[in-house]
Amino acid sequence: MSIILGLLSLVISIGIPVLIAVTLHFQVIHFCLFFILPVGAIAVGYVCGFGLFKGLHLSQKKIKGVHFLVGIIMAVICLFSIKYATYSLSYFDDQTQEIVYTTQGDHISNYEIEGYGQLTFINYNKYLIENTPISFSYRTRDIADVSNPVVGWVTFLIDCIGLLIGCIYAGLSIKGKYIYCNTCKKYKKSKTIFTIPKSSGEAFFKELESVLNNINSDTLLKDMVNKYTELENDVNGYYECGLVYCESCKTASLTFKLYERNKKNKIENNRNFNYDIDIRYELTRDFIQQPA
Ligand SMILES: [Zn+2]
Repeated sequence: MSIILGLLSLVISIGIPVLIAVTLHFQVIHFCLFFILPVGAIAVGYVCGFGLFKGLHLSQKKIKGVHFLVGIIMAVICLFSIKYATYSLSYFDDQTQEIVYTTQGDHISNYEIEGYGQLTFINYNKYLIENTPISFSYRTRDIADVSNPVVGWVTFLIDCIGLLIGCIYAGLSIKGKYIYCNTCKKYKKSKTIFTIPKSSGEAFFKELESVLNNINSDTLLKDMVNKYTELENDVNGYYECGLVYCESCKTASLTFKLYERNKKNKIENNRNFNYDIDIRYELTRDFIQQPA
């Protein structure tokens, strides 16, 4: 599964940029925002890595360091293939004196450029990096056109890093979203099960801990929670409870997130708040049985 999806997303991540380059003369991987943010490269890298990591998730394999290494190799293959495909399709049009993307005529490898020699794959890309003007613009106003070998190489390096970041991010986001059960060698299930008003948080957590600490307690989570979930909403925010569980080894835990009003008066996830606690599987059965 991960191999098929990995190859599929690799092909897509190569095919789309090449297609855009050929039809629109626009290099997706060299598209930057705010001068240095390589959003184009990050997007291509993300697409490139997504299939591999999603495939690992779907086939219940744990995402490990070696998979990130495979992702990095795929990103390098992706970059090379995009460059090589556009190079193979670069022909020189005698009439317009311009490079066109086609499959017939005079391939650019038949030409030479002073200082670079014959336009082989390497020489041509070196020439492009060192001589393509880089436009700096600010709110659609062009500030400067820079054509400088150093700037060219720095920009190229930033794009390469962007590609790697995009690919690694694809892996990290899937790895972070799904929790793996090392005992059963598969991903745990998760769902959001309830929210409680922020103002009742203190009382709720106290009661929750006392229920969980009492090993003999058979108070079901749902019964304990009901009186809090029925409370009126608090305009200042709420706690959201997620249930993460493994049906095979019958383990469960609760993860709480706090959403509260920020300085801009919007309800937002407060990332400083994190509260995870293990709970006996039987106590959560009402939530597990009900459809997500
Ligand atoms: Zn398990």
